[in-house]
Amino acid sequence: MKPSIEKLQKFFRLEADRDYDNRAVMGGLESMLDKWEAEARADELPEDLIQAVTIRLRDYPRLSEDTRKEALKGLWRRIKKQTSAGEADEEDTPEAENPPGDQSLSEAASKPPKQPKEPTKTSKTPSAVKEKKQRPRPTPEGPAAALNAPVTVLDGVGPANAEKLANLGMHSLGDMLYHFPRRYDDYTLLKPIKELKYGEEVTVIATVQTVNTRQIRGGKSKIVEVIVNDGSGALRLNWFNQPWVANSLTENTQLVLSGKIEQYLGRLVMNSPEWELLEKENLHTNRIVPVYPLTAKITQRWLRQQMNKVVNYWALRVQDPIPESVRKSADLYHLPEALLQAHFPESWEDLKAAQERLAFDEIFMLQLGVLRQKREWQQYSARVFAPPQEWLQAQIARLPYTLTGAQDAALQNVKSDLSSGHPMNRLLQGDVGSGKTVIAALAVAMVTQEGAQAALMAPTSILAEQHYRSLTSLLAGENGFLNPDQIHIMVGATAEAEKQSIRDGLESGQIKLVIGTHALIEDPVNFADLQLAIIDEQHRFGVDQRAALRAKGDNPHLLVMTATPIPRSLALTIYGDLDLTVMDEIPPGRQPVATHLLFPRERERAYSLIRSQIEAGSQAFIIYPLVEESDNSDAKAAVEEHERLQTEVFPDLKLGLLHGRLKAAEKEEVMLKFHNQEFDILVSTTVVEVGVDIPNATVMLIEGANRFGLAQMHQLRGRVGRGQSKAYCLLVPETDNAVENERLQAMTESNDGFILAERDLEQRGPGQFLGTRQSGFSDLQIAAISNVRLIEKARQHATDFLAADPELTHPEHQLLARTLAHFWRNGKGDIS
Ligand code: ADP
Ligand code: MG
Repeated sequence: MKPSIEKLQKFFRLEADRDYDNRAVMGGLESMLDKWEAEARADELPEDLIQAVTIRLRDYPRLSEDTRKEALKGLWRRIKKQTSAGEADEEDTPEAENPPGDQSLSEAASKPPKQPKEPTKTSKTPSAVKEKKQRPRPTPEGPAAALNAPVTVLDGVGPANAEKLANLGMHSLGDMLYHFPRRYDDYTLLKPIKELKYGEEVTVIATVQTVNTRQIRGGKSKIVEVIVNDGSGALRLNWFNQPWVANSLTENTQLVLSGKIEQYLGRLVMNSPEWELLEKENLHTNRIVPVYPLTAKITQRWLRQQMNKVVNYWALRVQDPIPESVRKSADLYHLPEALLQAHFPESWEDLKAAQERLAFDEIFMLQLGVLRQKREWQQYSARVFAPPQEWLQAQIARLPYTLTGAQDAALQNVKSDLSSGHPMNRLLQGDVGSGKTVIAALAVAMVTQEGAQAALMAPTSILAEQHYRSLTSLLAGENGFLNPDQIHIMVGATAEAEKQSIRDGLESGQIKLVIGTHALIEDPVNFADLQLAIIDEQHRFGVDQRAALRAKGDNPHLLVMTATPIPRSLALTIYGDLDLTVMDEIPPGRQPVATHLLFPRERERAYSLIRSQIEAGSQAFIIYPLVEESDNSDAKAAVEEHERLQTEVFPDLKLGLLHGRLKAAEKEEVMLKFHNQEFDILVSTTVVEVGVDIPNATVMLIEGANRFGLAQMHQLRGRVGRGQSKAYCLLVPETDNAVENERLQAMTESNDGFILAERDLEQRGPGQFLGTRQSGFSDLQIAAISNVRLIEKARQHATDFLAADPELTHPEHQLLARTLAHFWRNGKGDIS
């Protein structure tokens, strides 16, 4: 028997012994699920089985004893059926015949297996105990379960077609229901042939006059030519390389044709129109027609037919996880109706309402998740750090500048979080150069002065190194209260011996602050007393990484910082579990960076500006994009251009080169030399994008600007203009393409990261905007995320809903609870 199954069996038996009191696992069953899921994957259990187990067991604490018994029995039956019975039989034939909970099985377990040692997290559901006596409605089963049926249950879908559907992400009927059209064609307007105009998309009903198949001259391809007539006129239809079409079209059959009117030798034609015999239900035509994303070897027509079958039958049988009360107050379509209309809309209004309903689901789930997370954190307690006011004032006085109003306000937030007795969960959002680092440093000071530890994680080693230098000088410099050897840096390239000594120092508590990259969470470091975790450039990390750093302590305070000015709508959606501080002020004395868009042929002007700035004692960046098409591209453009610039353009100047392929230590060295002004110009890929602080640099030249998003260019631009002198940002696109360059124009018009981020979001969608962080979002969510109104609506409803039933224990909310659990495990909604 596979270990993961064996583990379940042990658990099931033990629970049966204990009359299903959910004590078989310390800390309750939920605490073992995550680990179990990983083990089950390692055992290669079928994915749907894993899902079934986790979904069912996640709710286990909330069920009554009787329902628990039923749930375990049901699961066990399923497990038996789906895992290789032979293997299981060898070991325990008698038990395998009986689901756990049967008397016989409980007796068999009389020598109780060792209680699995699971991490005992504080029970998350205190109310589960209270609710136990209630009798929640049994899990809705029946039709919903059938949606997990493989697509092969459909007529005409065998293994070959199933594979094609799988390529499109459709494994089950439920997947199909959620495979939405990528667009819709409106064929609702029928037209007589004599009124057709070139370029129109229309639907025509006509009778076949002639059918002709011929070889295209010189080629191997065949063309089917059909002439149809509707009494008002004749129209020619062409199908290329689809000779079978001729078999289905015979003279005098009546067809419904939909497609675009094109021209051939002065006459109107339709090329490869959608068609069907008139008698048939007008599925493909004469209505708003869904157009699905396809993959090789699947035709639109075939897929649409399958979809029609599935949607017509199954959509109506889907259970709606959104409780009726919410549906009513939010004025939403019922889920079955929404699914139906999203595939085969009766009108554009229906389509819109359906899409809104489906988008609502996703945002609502997202919001429920983050709001519950937030509630949970608020219930934890954390160590209080409340340094005397004079002490804090003294720390601030040691800074080489006075804090801005925004920094002051942020500091107040952080201070009150640290003294609240609950863990801080704060997102510090501030445009590039707004001075977030010093807020982090002061938070570190407050925590470490009481002897506790802090960790700061940054996305690149360059940035980690920079933070290491500035935090060391702030905290361990003159009059600092830490010793330099109480602060360490750990990055991927740190030598193993040194890592070991850092590990020792952290474990003993001798090291008070460690700064590093993701090496911090990948390494098996243990902290004696980690009380503050800081993440810089949060958008570069995933939620998991955030959680991993947090997990290094026992409910430590958490401060995450980002310079990506996330539009409010997006912040509400994805960072809704955090409290938000916005620093909307730039330290005084800085002039906005003058930004110019140059044509490629004007590059010389850029070079002469760079030269004159360098002569005046400043430095410059020249940035090249990553070119994805070619293999070695990361470095290539930058390396070649560095060579060319050094020999042909600036032979008398010193040019540094930085790209992702350098070793961490080499990067360090280049950055350090640039920082120390040993280089005049730094030629680089986007590795310098985040956080790098070189106040003496005044020119940022961005080559291939068309390849960058606005927010990213704004980050790059933020590398200059950090000192007192006037700074420049020059954008050089690869071509004179007017449309592209209009987009870039926004950079010259605004120095405000928020405005640019909003524009970026409009132009490119959140997928690109957020990068990896975004990957779990569906297209629908993506569309919805930029819809502020919908987000706020969903958030309001989620808030109200949780206020009424914070633990989702109400019987009417059980389907939602399960859907929610599944949604958060898979990054998308589920209907089973
Ligand atoms: P970011 O918010 O982009 O991380 P940094 O923390 O790197 O910004 O700060 C940018 C620069 O501004 C640094 O050189 C820092 O020393 C300086 N700085 C920070 N706060 C102030 C202030 N209140 N007045 C003047 N300069 C400041
Ligand atoms: Mg920064």
